[in-house]
Amino acid sequence: MHRHIQFEVGAGFTVRFWQDIWCGDASLCVLYPRLFLLSRNKEASVSELMKFPNGVLFWDLTFRRYSEDWDLESFYSLMSRIYGASLKGVGDDKMCWKPARGKGFTVHSYYQVLTNSVDQSFPWKTVWKSKVLSRVAFFVWTAALGNILTIDNLRKRQILILDWCCMCKRNGESVDHLLIHCPIAFDLWSMVFTLFGIHWVMSKTVVDLLACWQGKLGGIGIRLFGWLCPIV
Ligand SMILES: [Zn+2]
Repeated sequence: MHRHIQFEVGAGFTVRFWQDIWCGDASLCVLYPRLFLLSRNKEASVSELMKFPNGVLFWDLTFRRYSEDWDLESFYSLMSRIYGASLKGVGDDKMCWKPARGKGFTVHSYYQVLTNSVDQSFPWKTVWKSKVLSRVAFFVWTAALGNILTIDNLRKRQILILDWCCMCKRNGESVDHLLIHCPIAFDLWSMVFTLFGIHWVMSKTVVDLLACWQGKLGGIGIRLFGWLCPIV
């Protein structure tokens, strides 16, 4: 439900800079995931970062380290977005219901959001319409549902086992970690994306990743999941 709420910023005390939707149609952490990862204060409210020295708007953003060259484009994009917002820094923050803008919240529009969201978000076409071996499609489908036998799932079945990723030996082993965020899997993804000349910011979850893919890109991605399949 949260992604359907948009804020109009007044003083900005109740609006989270990165995680609420107040500047565009998505939250800044979704639009700029890499910068969000590097940001020092992920929970900051807009009011904490919005300053008005001499009456001029200044955004007091800090990051864990200087961005590398390939981050600059998104950094400039973020700057132009937030400096383009016409904020005064005074007044109440307002919460707006996006699906029925102007009419306010209605049960009817909430019901529509709930019933539509399943079809929109779950990327079944990417999985089942890609030309790959059926065992690969089945594996990706199971992974998207979060049901492959990663250690976190085994632990949920009361199997006593140390939560330790079998590849990097550093993190806990969840489906999303093992298949997309583990440094070893990530290197594999980066290599393939570079091979095809694709610049890609890795999605947070396997489902999000599949949802971004359409056409040929979906086929390439599903095959790569197939390469990871024997590991699991
Ligand atoms: Zn790992």
